[in-house]
Amino acid sequence: MTGPSTSSRLSADLVVVGGGIAGVSCAEALAVLSPDASVLLVSASPLIKAATNVQPLTKYLVRFDVEEQDAACLTQRCPTVQVIHDEVVALHPAGQGGQGGQDGGELVTSSGRRVSFGRVCVCAGARPKPTLTDHPLVLTLRDTESVRTLQARVAGARRVLVVGNGGIATELVHEVRGVEVVWVVRHDHISAAFVDAGAAEFLMPAATQDSMSATKDADDVAKPVVKRMRYTEAKAEPSQGAGAALGPDWHAHWELHGRDESKARPLRVEYGCEVARMLPGDDRWPAYAELTNGVTIGVDLVVSATGVVPSVHAFANGNPTLRLHDDGGILVDEHMRSSVPRVFAAGDACTAGWAHAKHWFQMRLWTQARQMGAYAARCMVADKDGAIAEVLQDFCFEMFTHVTRFFGHKVVLLGLHNGQKLDRGEWEMMLRAVKGKEYVKLVLQQGRVQGAVLVGDTDLEETFENLILDQVDVSHLGEDLLNPHVDVEDYFD
Ligand code: FAD
Repeated sequence: MTGPSTSSRLSADLVVVGGGIAGVSCAEALAVLSPDASVLLVSASPLIKAATNVQPLTKYLVRFDVEEQDAACLTQRCPTVQVIHDEVVALHPAGQGGQGGQDGGELVTSSGRRVSFGRVCVCAGARPKPTLTDHPLVLTLRDTESVRTLQARVAGARRVLVVGNGGIATELVHEVRGVEVVWVVRHDHISAAFVDAGAAEFLMPAATQDSMSATKDADDVAKPVVKRMRYTEAKAEPSQGAGAALGPDWHAHWELHGRDESKARPLRVEYGCEVARMLPGDDRWPAYAELTNGVTIGVDLVVSATGVVPSVHAFANGNPTLRLHDDGGILVDEHMRSSVPRVFAAGDACTAGWAHAKHWFQMRLWTQARQMGAYAARCMVADKDGAIAEVLQDFCFEMFTHVTRFFGHKVVLLGLHNGQKLDRGEWEMMLRAVKGKEYVKLVLQQGRVQGAVLVGDTDLEETFENLILDQVDVSHLGEDLLNPHVDVEDYFD
């Protein structure tokens, strides 16, 4: 950290709260866009998170690594950014007790610092939902520290119960070895926050095997059959936001191995249920988990990954004019402004309150944290210069994109990939599946592609990104749209 400053009174033109991907992206962009302004980043975590190895896969789809760094790295990259390690405990907007050299207001920190700001961006992230958290055998994943605890606890475990159906649970189930895993999912298929039942079925064999053997099997079965079918589907459940402080590939750096020395990954999935309550243990198991489907399971450890709630209490307390969404996020407009003048928000801490483009929706992921942080910086600087009305919203908010890996497979999600926002019976689905190798699903509405799920190395992301954005009528192509021997791009040259 630069500092820590000995002064209890600090002042900066542009202040960012939070050292996660949103806050760091925001601070980096502020340094570039407004080199003469003083920029201060206040973070409760000792390390910051930066996006590295940024690789655009298409115009909209970007893959990057998330690296934990010492704050000095940020100051080296951006010398005008000062970083302090402190926790903000209160926000006093201008005219409500704020003092000092800036006219936006003042932040108060847990160490007693008072930070006056011209503009502030709240990037305080989210924390795990407090389900079951008061039980000593229940662990909630959020940050490096909690993964370290998990690693130690899994090492002595025979059976682990994983609760949740989002990205974190999916990755965890894939990574844990040498221990029996029981996966409790609320839906009727796995990984429901991201994929539909078909993709889940595709992923399931990999979920139950060691990833090496899954790849081998994939090669064995990949060649002959390409299945295509076309049918309409009922409206999918809208995706729930998920996520928190760890970045992508967090699991790649941690060996999660249970008692059993073998590499086996016995997996059992309990569908359509949740944990009703934890029951006391006996001489066989330290505790039992009672599920809402009536099943009771003896466990050594329960890992809860059931989503997050925005971490905004320090800013909302005492500020009734700061509007929050029902999901707990700070409501922001198309310029990332909250309802309090000069207070912006980005990343997991905010809820996008503008009229969304047809193919975009918010999901609390690192991709959006990075996009929002950088865009909020542009808006803060324009606001400072009196030019915010001229800021056009960043093109990344035109379409939802996400790239990740589930069970060793590359997964690309584009647009309304699960039929989000589309009414029942209004859309149809076309799919191509090669068992163990690839799974391609398109969501079509009136002959136009609205979304896509691409599992495996399909190399189709650019084609379908363009088709979603251009809304070209592709009905004349019929099933050729997914014919692996037809280059769809040729039709539109
Ligand atoms: P955060 O990363 O949560 O950062 C918030 C920052 O604010 C922290 O530095 C914190 O210390 C600081 N802070 C909080 N309150 C205060 C305060 N009062 N004062 C000062 N500082 C404060 N997303 C993906 O896209 N892909 C994945 O594969 C993926 N895997 C994940 C795995 C796990 C286990 C978890 C927990 C999350 C995962 N996510 C994933 C979600 C992703 O990590 C988040 O969406 C993203 O990190 C949000 O970034 P952020 O900067 O908004 O918030």
